[in-house]
Amino acid sequence: MAKRIPLEILDLKDQRYSCHGCGDCCRDFSVQLRDEDLDRLAKQGWEEKLGQSVTVEFRGRRYLRQQADGACLFLQEDGLCRIHGEFGFQEKPVACRLFPFNLAPDGNGTHAGLNFACQSVRANRGASLESHRDDLRRAIREVPESNAISPPRLAGDLRADGQEVEAVVSGFDRWLGTTEVPLSIRLDGFAWLSQSLGAASFAEVRGSRVTELVDLLVSALPDELLHLPVDSPGRGQRRQLRQAAFARIEDPRFTGDEKKASLSARLDQWSRSRRFARGRGVIPGLARGWAVPGDFRDVESMPSVPGTPEISDLVTRWLRSTIRGGRAWGTAYYGWTIAEGVQGLALNAACLGWLARAHAAGKGHEVVTIESVGEALGRIDRSSGRAVWLGTAAERLRLRYLAADDGLRRLVRSTW
Ligand code: SF4
Repeated sequence: MAKRIPLEILDLKDQRYSCHGCGDCCRDFSVQLRDEDLDRLAKQGWEEKLGQSVTVEFRGRRYLRQQADGACLFLQEDGLCRIHGEFGFQEKPVACRLFPFNLAPDGNGTHAGLNFACQSVRANRGASLESHRDDLRRAIREVPESNAISPPRLAGDLRADGQEVEAVVSGFDRWLGTTEVPLSIRLDGFAWLSQSLGAASFAEVRGSRVTELVDLLVSALPDELLHLPVDSPGRGQRRQLRQAAFARIEDPRFTGDEKKASLSARLDQWSRSRRFARGRGVIPGLARGWAVPGDFRDVESMPSVPGTPEISDLVTRWLRSTIRGGRAWGTAYYGWTIAEGVQGLALNAACLGWLARAHAAGKGHEVVTIESVGEALGRIDRSSGRAVWLGTAAERLRLRYLAADDGLRRLVRSTW
């Protein structure tokens, strides 16, 4: 009989979730379909009923079609799902049934991480995570690749064993959970840890020595940061941050007209990306539904995001659950190594600061509030591990550039 792989529910006692039906995950979300989903949709007879295809092909993959405003084709005016209404929960695509959980296998088991694009996850509302175990087990059966031992790479081509993954996870988690240290210092330390891990030569440091290395790095914090003051980011680093933030709020439409619109959409995207790179003048739009501040100066002149208790709680839960849920590397994150993954997460934290300030500036606020951090986090986690362009060689190159010369620390400190 096949061995049952352990299902690791996030061990974060202070994180809860139940769906409260806000419908956010049915808007601006690209739902990639599996073969079984396509069979189910075909059997449900939607093409005959609606007179149009309900799926769209994009870069070789099939997605649920969207309405012109980005809402799922099946989202009704009452905010409910039409597939669910007519055929029941189990007949929806598996990605819809799993959300906001996502599955990440490693050498220790299958981890059920959480997506903070969900309002209830951000607001920490609902039942314990453990209470979702049976639903998750049912969904896992339909995602066989998530139910296999699949060790991520530590760095380069080196596969991490269970002990090494645990060493990194528990070390980073311990630091992030040191809530008596102000949030801005914890984020700085997190960026420093991620840069240090990326610079380590793992060919000579394996097994229990990885635990020693991570313990040594974590125990040096926060004192080490006092001896390592950080400069303001340079022009090139700031430009990369704006472009990274832009890449995280881009959401392609899957309305079926992509081919027709493809050339003009690409030109438009290229032109907006250039304006983000320049960082001067009027901002060419932000995430859909966000008010746009006058120009880039309005964002850059916003004070750093304050570490109020609510903001600190939200950002800490997000980072800890992303690390513990294995959402930053391996199969859950474009096959990236653990070293790349923690650096990518540090860049996401800097983008979160930039986007939260942009959201607050658009609202005319003088300081960033929890609302702006929540909105920005929702956008970042929507794209994280899902938007294909964030997993490309170009994005890895950006990260390599920023990990050098203290770039990640500088950017994090400039926004938090
Ligand atoms: S975003 Fe979360 S709370 Fe809202 S409908 Fe989706 S799963 Fe439910």
